[in-house]
Amino acid sequence: MHWQNLRDKSINGESLNDEEATAVLNCRDQELLALADAAYGVRHKYFGNRVKLNFLLNAKSGLCPEDCSYCAQAKTSQAPIQKYAMLSADQILAAAERAVETKAKRFCMVNSGRGPTDSEVEQVAQAVQTVKDKYPQLEICVCLGLLKESQARDLKASGVDAYNHNLNTTEQHYGEICTTHTYQDRKATLALASQAGLSSCSGCLFGMGETQSDIVHLARTFEKLNVDSIPINFLIPVPGTPLAKTHLLTPQKCIKILALFRFLNPDSEIRIAGGREFHLRWLQPLGLYIANSIFIGDYLTTKGQSPADDLNMVRDLGFDIEGAIPDDWNLAPAAFAGDRSFTVQLKV
Ligand code: SF4
Repeated sequence: MHWQNLRDKSINGESLNDEEATAVLNCRDQELLALADAAYGVRHKYFGNRVKLNFLLNAKSGLCPEDCSYCAQAKTSQAPIQKYAMLSADQILAAAERAVETKAKRFCMVNSGRGPTDSEVEQVAQAVQTVKDKYPQLEICVCLGLLKESQARDLKASGVDAYNHNLNTTEQHYGEICTTHTYQDRKATLALASQAGLSSCSGCLFGMGETQSDIVHLARTFEKLNVDSIPINFLIPVPGTPLAKTHLLTPQKCIKILALFRFLNPDSEIRIAGGREFHLRWLQPLGLYIANSIFIGDYLTTKGQSPADDLNMVRDLGFDIEGAIPDDWNLAPAAFAGDRSFTVQLKV
């Protein structure tokens, strides 16, 4: 396969056919650099060398009645995680401050659960207004589960910029990873959020036993939905969850998945999300030649590498951080040396 032909097709707005999409996933490891180079051509056209940083806050943790088999917060999980009700507006503001310090452009607030109550939406809306008053430039994305139409409208009115709701896997495979809600439930919430005027953020989780055809199908689904941001997660097999012993990914396979998503979603923000450090390992920088966005700091229930390491990686690649002033970020590694992300301070 001539990978540069796929680059040209993607840049010219042509979709890949099934044979080409499958060839990306079957790329020989010896050709990985050539594949990444072609995908980089697409990334560079739409995003130059900019990297968008996103900061994740688990604003309500654990105690979820759903049974998503990959999730440490599910009712089926025995993982020893922190469990707490929704954080106060002050705690959320403190996390937003941390997001700004680590040069994040977007602050992503996630609540565990099937979906929010109206009173939780009200609490989120108040917290969002508090954050926006202090940091108007900070984009806010919330992820609260399945939404009602009125809730989507209320979130938009409060100043929320984007709504995240991952499809995770294909409709065909969905029943194998979750039985308490359906793929169609998730698609309906995505539609409601978009109708309310919220920017759409929806992605996937790979490494759960999906087939190659599932991967191609998912990449095409996002192409059709034309979502603005696509977080691509790679399963972290957390002890205590049903998928604790599932190890199906290699760093090379992750790169091929990222390249396929880039070719089929050329101008969408592609974010390497959970599992970046765990699965890509030394290939993380190569991933950033394809994706244009990462989370900085920790994930919902697992640790990421330190913000200093992330900033060093971006700087050493010669990339720019979206919205940050290049001159001042040399100071950042020292400022964050040995530091981790935001730690929730719970009252006992
Ligand atoms: S992914 Fe969300 S809905 Fe599913 S178990 Fe985890 S917190 Fe609950």
